[in-house]
Parts: sequence; C-alpha cells; structure tokens
Amino acid sequence: MPDLFSLPDSEQNLIEKSRKLLEADTDKSEHEIQILIDELRTIIGKHDQLYYKKSRSIISDQEYDALFAKLKELEEQHPQFYSIDSPTQKVNDLLQKDFATVKHLKPLYSLDNSYNLEDLNDFDRRVREGLPPQAKVEYGVELKYDGSSIAVIYENDQLVRAATRGNGVEGDDITENARVIKHIPKQALFSKFGIHKIELRGEVIISIPDFEVLNEERVKQNEILKAEGKKELELFKNPRNTSSGSVRLKDVQEVKNRRLQAIIYNVGYVENKAGEDITTQVCTTQVGYLNMLHDLGFQSGIENYRLLKEVKDISAYCLEWQEKRDTFSIEIDGMVLKVNELEYQKILGNTAHHPKWAIAYKFKARQAYSRLLKVDFQVGRTGAVTPVAKIEPVPLMGVQISSISLHNEDFIRDKDIRIGDIVVVERAGDVIPYIEGRLEEKRTGTETEIAFPSLCPSCEHHLVKPEGESVWRCINPDCPAQIEERLIHFVSIDAMNIQGLGQEIIRTFLKQGILKSILDIYQLDFDKVLELEGFKAKSVRNLQKSIEDSKKSESWRLMVGLGIRHVGITTAKMLVKQVEKLNDFKDWNIERYQQLNDIGPKVALSLNEFFGDKQNIELIEKLAALGVNIQSEEIHQESNKFGGKTFLFTGTMPTMSRDEGKILVEKNGGKVLSGVSVNLDYLIVGDKAGSKLSKAQKIPSIQILDENEFLKLLS
Ligand code: AMP
Ligand code: ZN
Repeated sequence: MPDLFSLPDSEQNLIEKSRKLLEADTDKSEHEIQILIDELRTIIGKHDQLYYKKSRSIISDQEYDALFAKLKELEEQHPQFYSIDSPTQKVNDLLQKDFATVKHLKPLYSLDNSYNLEDLNDFDRRVREGLPPQAKVEYGVELKYDGSSIAVIYENDQLVRAATRGNGVEGDDITENARVIKHIPKQALFSKFGIHKIELRGEVIISIPDFEVLNEERVKQNEILKAEGKKELELFKNPRNTSSGSVRLKDVQEVKNRRLQAIIYNVGYVENKAGEDITTQVCTTQVGYLNMLHDLGFQSGIENYRLLKEVKDISAYCLEWQEKRDTFSIEIDGMVLKVNELEYQKILGNTAHHPKWAIAYKFKARQAYSRLLKVDFQVGRTGAVTPVAKIEPVPLMGVQISSISLHNEDFIRDKDIRIGDIVVVERAGDVIPYIEGRLEEKRTGTETEIAFPSLCPSCEHHLVKPEGESVWRCINPDCPAQIEERLIHFVSIDAMNIQGLGQEIIRTFLKQGILKSILDIYQLDFDKVLELEGFKAKSVRNLQKSIEDSKKSESWRLMVGLGIRHVGITTAKMLVKQVEKLNDFKDWNIERYQQLNDIGPKVALSLNEFFGDKQNIELIEKLAALGVNIQSEEIHQESNKFGGKTFLFTGTMPTMSRDEGKILVEKNGGKVLSGVSVNLDYLIVGDKAGSKLSKAQKIPSIQILDENEFLKLLS
C-alpha cells in the first residue's frame, strides 16, 4: 500500500471516499440508494482508470472487491437503476488473464449516449460549431448492434489479428476465435485499394433465431445429461451476453458452435506499403468505407444505413427503428449517428471517452402495461418483509411476467401505487422486471390503497421497523418463512452448494416435517424420503451424495451459508483466514473485528452479535460433529523468509504448478496477490506469460523472476 502522504490530494480523496462508501448504510430511501449507486459506479470507474492507465492500485484488492460486490448487490436489489454503463456490466470487457494483451493500432472509443431525441439537436449544433461555416454536414445513421466489440487487422490481405475492445487501448488477442466467426473472412482483397494494413472495428453478435437454436440445442443436451444423472447446463440468457462470453472461450471448437457473426461498422486505421497513414485517403467518407467493406465480402450493415442531413429526418428514422426493432433478427439497442465526412471527423476530434463526431441514440427500456391484482408479502431469511405485486400476466421480451417486487413501503408510497392500477412494467436486458409507475389516466376511483401488514404473514409475530430503516421485519427466530429462506440460502450455489437439494425439495421436506433446521440436512432420514412421492432410489442416492460432498466444502461456504447479515462471499473468505476453526470467533469482541482492514462498524456489530450468541456457536459445533468442515485451509507456516513480501505467478513454470508455488510462498510467510499492482514485490514468470508480465514491466518496483531465481530466494 503506498504511503498516504506521498499521494496527490485527489488520490487521497479517492481512498477516503472509497472507505466511506464501503461503510455506507444500505437501508435507505430509494433516492438515496440511487445516489449511492452512482457514487459507487464513479469511484470504481476511477480505480479502474488508475489501474489500467497507470498500473496503480491505491486501495487493497479486498477493498476493491468489496466495493464492487456492494454495487452489484445494490443493483440486484434495485434493478430500476440498471445501467449498461455500470462497471458491473463491463466486467466482461476488462482484460482477461488467459489471453495475451495486445495494443490496438488506434484506441477504441466509447460512444456518447442520449435517450432523448431532442439531444440530437444539441449534438448537431455542437458539430456545426466545431466546423467551418461553409461545411456541408451529413450524418450516417446506423443501427447500434448489441453484442461485443472487436478490432480486426488485415495485413497483405490476410487476417492477422483480432482483439476484444478491452480497456479501449489494449484488448485480449482472440485471433484464433475470430477465424471461426462468420463474416470475418480469412482473406480480403484490400490490396486492390492500395491498402497494406487496415484495422476494422465491428460488433460480434448472435442473431435472435440463432440464439433460439443455441438454447434448443442446450435443452436437448440437458435431456441427455439428466438421463446420465449429470449436472445440466444453464440456458443462455440473451444474445448479447452469449456473444461476449463466446468470443472469449478457450475452446475454439466451442466458439465455432456458438453461431457468432461479425458486423463491421468502422475503419480505424489504414496504411499503405510505405507505412504511411492513408486512413482519410482511400475513402473520404464513412459511407465510402461501408460500401468498400460490403464489396469485399464483409457484412457492413449498409442495407439499413441512411445518409441524412436534417435532425427531423434522423429522428424519424430512429423512431422507425424503435418501433420495428422487435421484428428485426438482430438485437439492437439504439442508433448511431456519425458525421460522414472523415475530414470533418478529424477536425472535431475526441474527448478522452468518446468521439465528438458521433452519438448514440439509445432506445428506451421495453415497457408493458398490466393491472395490479394484489400484493403479497414475502418474508426473507433476515425477516425483512417485501411486498410483491401480482399482476395480470403480460409478455415482455419473451418472458411472461406476473410477479414483481415492490421493494418496500416507501417505494409504494413514492409511486402512489394502488390495487387495480394499470402499472408500467419495464425490463432492460436480462434484468429483473421493475414497476416504473402507473397510468394516472386509467384511474377509475375504485383503486384501493395497499395495506401494509402489522403482523408477519407467516408467523403473525409483530413486525418492527427500526428507526431510520425503510424495511419492516419479523424478528421471531422460529418464523417458518425465515427458516425456509435460510435453508434455501444455506444450500445455494454461493454457500454450501448442495445441488441435489433445490428450493422445491426443501419446501416439500419442510411440509412433510422431514426437515426443520439446517442441522437436519445432515441427519436426514433417507428412508422417509424414499417414501415420498417422486423420489426414486437413484435420486435419493444422488441427494445423499451431494449432501455428503458438501461436508468437505471450504469453511467460508459455511460462513456464507449461516447467513450473517452483511457478510457475503468476499468478507467470509477474508474472515475464515483469521482463525483456525469457525467457532474460534466466539472469543472475539467487536474491537477485534474492527481491527481487520476491510471490516466496518456495521459488519463488526453483526459478526459480534452472531458469534456472541451461544445458539449459533452450538449450531456450528453440532455441524462439525456431523462431519461438516469448519476448519480453515490456512497453510501451516514453516519460516518467515518471505515475511511481508507479496508474490504473483504467471505462465507455466518448468517444475512447479501455480498452486505449489502459492503453498511455498505461504509456508514461508509471504502472500500471493490476485493481480499486478504497486503492492506486488515479485512476479514469477513461466512460459507463455500473459498480460500480468506486461503490466508488471511498467512498474519498476516489481522484481521479475523465473522459477529458478524464485527458488534461490529460499535457499
Ligand atoms: P456503449 O457501449 O453504449 O458505450 O456504446 C459503444 C459501443 O456500441 C461500441 O463499443 C460498439 O461496440 C457498439 N456499437 C454497436 N453498433 C455500433 C455502430 N454502428 N457504430 C459504433 N459503435 C457501435
Ligand atoms: Zn414471521
């Protein structure tokens, strides 16, 4: 960690702000949550910039992960604040470990965005102001394809390299994968135009019909897997996620199966044999290049391209596509306007983030209208009571929607939603549907207020709402609804991951009295299970095996499974390293938790409460007695030769696996980091070292060693 006092003011602020955000309370009003989400996005964006542009980390990896996890959690709880620009949506775009990092010939910029057609007038004005008065401005209006961006280089008419967008300056080298993507020809006659080297930009997409075929294939595959008693594959969520995941697969054969195709919409850089930049000479306009690409056998989207002058015509064309986008075979999320004349583009230039000669008009989230029939109240595992709207089923983006969370009482009052209202349902991408509001003009006067219960709908215990919180809670520890949710959480994929024990089975077992608590999972009466309808010998054997297997899980999984408030995966992983056995926390006090770097007062309080409760310690001890692992995997230290030093391994080493290297480091008191940063002391490189090496070379304080040199440190 760099010395605080040697940091510039702005970075000190950034550190302080980050720590404040980590602490920030999340039981807040909707408006405050929105502000919090915005702040988290900005701050994470700043850390990303520092990391990718200057190879600097000014907070620990754990703190960064915790910020990220907090943002992700808030976004999941409040899908109304979904934004494609959130760092959580861009993770896929960051550089990945296993592909080589390559530099783009010219940076790939993002696009300026607008959701409002009126903004296009401002854009037009800015463009005209930036150009000489006699300039005749025309705009190319293109579809904005929703996939993942790619930069492709041809040299001597051969495809020589393809890369993902990455951070805009550098991306992952995915050349091998690009070779199996439709409409990326391996050869193209650029030399006909005097071009020696050219960098193209485009989008890799999967068409909607192809996407449906992919999922049909998965369903068939799953039938086979199921018959064999194997784990089924998850269905693909949407074309966009699938294409960006697919271009980064390591198995080229699988990439080939994914029905990917490329649309090339821009030319980034062009060079002749003499190495001269001839980008604005081969063609002088955007449309010129699109036509050239089309003639050379690329898919350039020219069919739907329009060259327009007037903003009103542009708006009309945008609206036309907004109307008909659902009937088009490719997902589009908006339109892109680009100044056609390349000379004008050059004059207008770029900001750090986007070109000033282009703007994206983004379509509004898709909406549907439906009647609110009633509101159910669901009790979560912490006792929080969530109102859930039941609406007349309505289709939205291929899914029937009948049930939507209303979050809390404030949300309902803010939007003044009543039973009988026609509500506006929205959904962006694969995000959970959200009630945007209601239609005033559809009110008849017969709508009725939503009455919030004062008693728990499950156990009829009195609900409480602590000062300053917006959520009503049932605080009865024996509340059946909470027990059910706790069990579901305990077996979930992020916790103990007991695959044979799904939600439905838990509900059945609860109803039949076979299961009453977490402990019962490990003392199930399988003979009784066999008597239940639908349970065959084989499925019971599988269930038994997955429960048995879960006993060996790492202890952080148990910690997550116990459902301690504010303790997620990152925190649990960090915490278990502090003790030998999970129940050792019974001797800790609040100050001791707070001394840990990443634990704030609120988390400390919650931990202290949990481990201070005898019943919880008893539960852990009983689980241990039933064979569940509560032991930390911490490695026994043999020396302190590496005391305080940090290491990272990359590439394949001659004799040692990375895991072996890690154990060696930890046995000798060192620590293995997850990424290259200024906190790193040694990078140990093997064969085919990836982006970590190039990043480390930019930081002078990091020593770069091979396996041999590393082993010498120990002797
Ligand atoms: P955004 O991700 O919203 O910042 O939008 C920028 C992205 O839109 C680019 O990185 C491209 O991947 C994508 N895009 C899709 N269609 C086009 C197009 N016709 N012109 C430029 N960019 C496009
Ligand atoms: Zn209750």
